[in-house]
Amino acid sequence: LKSKLPNVGTTIFTVMSKLATETGAINLSQGFPGFDCSPELVSLVEQYLRKGFNQYAPMTGVPALREAIAQKTADQYGVNYDPETEITITSGATEAIFAAVTAVVRPGDEVLVFEPAYDSYVPAIDLNGGIPVYVTLTPPDYGIDWQVVREKITDKTRLIMVNTPHNPTGHVWTTDDLTQLATLVRDRDIWIVSDEVYEHILFDRSAGPGHVHHSLMTHPELRERTFIIGSFGKTFHITGWKIGYCLAPKELSVEFRKIHQYLTFSTVTPIQYALADYLKEPDNYRQLSAFYQRKRDLFLAGLQGSRFTWKPAEGSFFQTVSYDAITDEPDYDLAIRLTKEIGVASIPVSVFYHQKNDYKILRFCFAKDDAVLEEAAQRLRKL
Ligand code: PMP
Ligand code: GLN
Repeated sequence: LKSKLPNVGTTIFTVMSKLATETGAINLSQGFPGFDCSPELVSLVEQYLRKGFNQYAPMTGVPALREAIAQKTADQYGVNYDPETEITITSGATEAIFAAVTAVVRPGDEVLVFEPAYDSYVPAIDLNGGIPVYVTLTPPDYGIDWQVVREKITDKTRLIMVNTPHNPTGHVWTTDDLTQLATLVRDRDIWIVSDEVYEHILFDRSAGPGHVHHSLMTHPELRERTFIIGSFGKTFHITGWKIGYCLAPKELSVEFRKIHQYLTFSTVTPIQYALADYLKEPDNYRQLSAFYQRKRDLFLAGLQGSRFTWKPAEGSFFQTVSYDAITDEPDYDLAIRLTKEIGVASIPVSVFYHQKNDYKILRFCFAKDDAVLEEAAQRLRKL
């Protein structure tokens, strides 16, 4: 069989989590919380399971959940989406990303990808015959050079993949980034996928203005050409439940839904009802930034005195660190060795790049219990 994705193997998340389990290492590799979701949310799901909400949900999602998302979006960003025609519930952000890319990319279309990039973007582009065009973000700032972006846009550019707050770097877009992007796509047939699954995890607000999530929907011109992708996995500590969503103008949502209805048709029913109830209490997600800021700071305090260097993540639950002062090993080899020898698993950031580089960066997930983070940092300090 001739592979349709010849360059794809098992994802690094599976590889590193498996190795962490086999070796008994602390797993700061794959991004998932090391603690449980709220018992209240579990009991809501239980109630809906028992009440018999166990058959197919509507293809576009349970109306109550679409309405709750519309309300939350209006409250938070002051932007309105019609729950009937512009909001679709999906089986995680992963499905939404795939459906959005599939909805607009035709063979030969160019798709701008900022790298390092979350690992599902490029396979989705490849399978649709698209051609990824890379814009490299470099450590330690990972900021966007808009002149470079301008040079990479051609008549064939059909889509731009955006991710803020960014996995793996924790970089967060500013309003200036939104303005720059809007200027570049004006009067062109270019669509945007904006992966905003870490929208509620932003840091350094207590020490000043801090980092704010500037959703692409808040720029009126961008709203009209963007698929905004969200996920409840990160926000409510339920990565295993796989519920996400797509907000997009009606014209885009029509095309998005054509794909979604044959990819999964609909997604798990009782959880959608439970989330609709749970979303009505904003405190359920407003605390998240402060919650994760403490963990980021605890982990970084633990690394003080080590030979790693870093710029604190601005958002997301990932911290990247440079090991340039420690060893010349390739990051993949080092990640494997650290898992086996000191018992801390991480993600080598080179896997998120498609163009070769030698940046010497590892990514650590700090969505873990305090004692776990302290123990991991102590082990890393010895290097
Ligand atoms: N996008 C980014 C940037 C992510 O980090 C993740 C998963 N951590 C996803 C998408 C996928 O989200 P989901 O689990 O809801 O499919
Ligand atoms: N998004 C998670 C991460 O970046 C992992 C998701 C997955 O395992 N596919 O670590």
